[in-house]
Amino acid sequence: MKITVFREDTSFEIDNIKNARELHDLYCRLGDKYTFVINGEKLERMGPIDDVGFFAGYTIQYFEKFFEEDNVCCLCGKTLTGYGNNPWPLKDVGKCCDKCNFEFVIPRRIAMFR
Ligand SMILES: [Zn+2]
Repeated sequence: MKITVFREDTSFEIDNIKNARELHDLYCRLGDKYTFVINGEKLERMGPIDDVGFFAGYTIQYFEKFFEEDNVCCLCGKTLTGYGNNPWPLKDVGKCCDKCNFEFVIPRRIAMFR
């Protein structure tokens, strides 16, 4: 993930943010003075606008999208077709493909409850 932060005529890059919580903390500390560009998306200073037209601010959940490997099985790395499956208990986050689900995830779940 690539984060670039701008202020007036200076800019710097940040590459040590590991999760959405850290990114949210950083944004809350710097957000009103700096402009953030994350993976090419420029964040508006005031945050996104909600359904009724108010500035909603950025939540940790909003920042999670920058950390998701959306379309890839978290177990074998292949591109997902369809919605994907919950990989628990092999992983707590991400989605897995049908093949990994049937070959690894479901057998592990069954084994856990024997
Ligand atoms: Zn897979």
